[in-house]
Amino acid sequence: MEKGGDESGGGLQGLVIRNTGNAYLVRDDNGNDIIGIAKGNLRLKGIRSTSPIVVGDRVFMDPNPDGTAFITDIADRKNYIVRKASNLSKHAHILAANIDLAFLCITVKYPETTTVFIDRFLTTAEAYSVPVYLIFNKIDLYNDEEHEYLDALIHLYTSIGYHCLKTSTVTGEGKEYLEALTKGKSVLLAGHSGVGKSSISNLLLGNEAQKVSEISEYHHKGMHTTTFSEMLELKNGGFLIDTPGIKGFGTIDMSRAEVSHYFPEIFRISRKCKYNNCLHLNEPGCAVLDAVDKQYISESRYHSYLNILEDIEEGKYRL
Ligand code: GDP
Ligand code: ZN
Repeated sequence: MEKGGDESGGGLQGLVIRNTGNAYLVRDDNGNDIIGIAKGNLRLKGIRSTSPIVVGDRVFMDPNPDGTAFITDIADRKNYIVRKASNLSKHAHILAANIDLAFLCITVKYPETTTVFIDRFLTTAEAYSVPVYLIFNKIDLYNDEEHEYLDALIHLYTSIGYHCLKTSTVTGEGKEYLEALTKGKSVLLAGHSGVGKSSISNLLLGNEAQKVSEISEYHHKGMHTTTFSEMLELKNGGFLIDTPGIKGFGTIDMSRAEVSHYFPEIFRISRKCKYNNCLHLNEPGCAVLDAVDKQYISESRYHSYLNILEDIEEGKYRL
């Protein structure tokens, strides 16, 4: 039976899957796609953004007779990723909201992903409260030595508490696991160019994704090619968040004292430092330095920690 007479209490709700600047493509909870139009008075409390509604937002709507709907409210966001116009700018451009999961795609070769890059990403993900899976791709290409290095990385990150997965889009290894992980989730794919993000997307995307873009293409005839974000629908009902031109989480403001909060294993040990405001550089009684010495904390992680601290010192807040 069609739902009927249930207009009371909140009306229509849905998920914003494409942002076109002046209208939004919204997947309502019955699985229908609706063109959502933002009401002029819709303002987000506490967030100064160039775009009030973004992909991943859950919105409340008032249906119009012509099949479109007015977006009347936005549900609280559990997280969101921003791109700032510049380091000094107070204006944040929010790219996507309510990210359930991030896949950081990594290759130990072709191209090499450095541990500094991995750690910088993990740090920002911690700051945004987004769980990360480390996806080690192209495992069909590595020689014994590279495999050994990869296994050492997996050992390191697993011991800190991060999930790791080996994949190959050529042999299909890891595909079922990726499908299970993304089921019903909004997932951000990140990583250097060339590591296989598009290949992984293609592995997971079905014909349904085509449907989404066809609708929006139709709706956008004649629009210039501004780079708006969208959610690509997966065969399993999950979504990949497609934010053009973004490799990771972009920038974030962080004080020097805050950095260690986003290195879980450093943070855990830092409680034992003699001084409360210890930055773990060369302070007496520093438990972190001691742990690095004893190899409880990995050298590479500590190196990344210093690397981020240095950047902040120089006034560069890019992470
Ligand atoms: P992106 O820039 O991160 O989106 O990377 P692409 O998906 O475009 O992949 C870059 C190149 O790596 C392409 O030539 C892919 O065919 C290749 N590639 C991607 N995944 C794998 C893999 O698992 N194994 C191998 N051997 N090649 C891969
Ligand atoms: Zn310390």
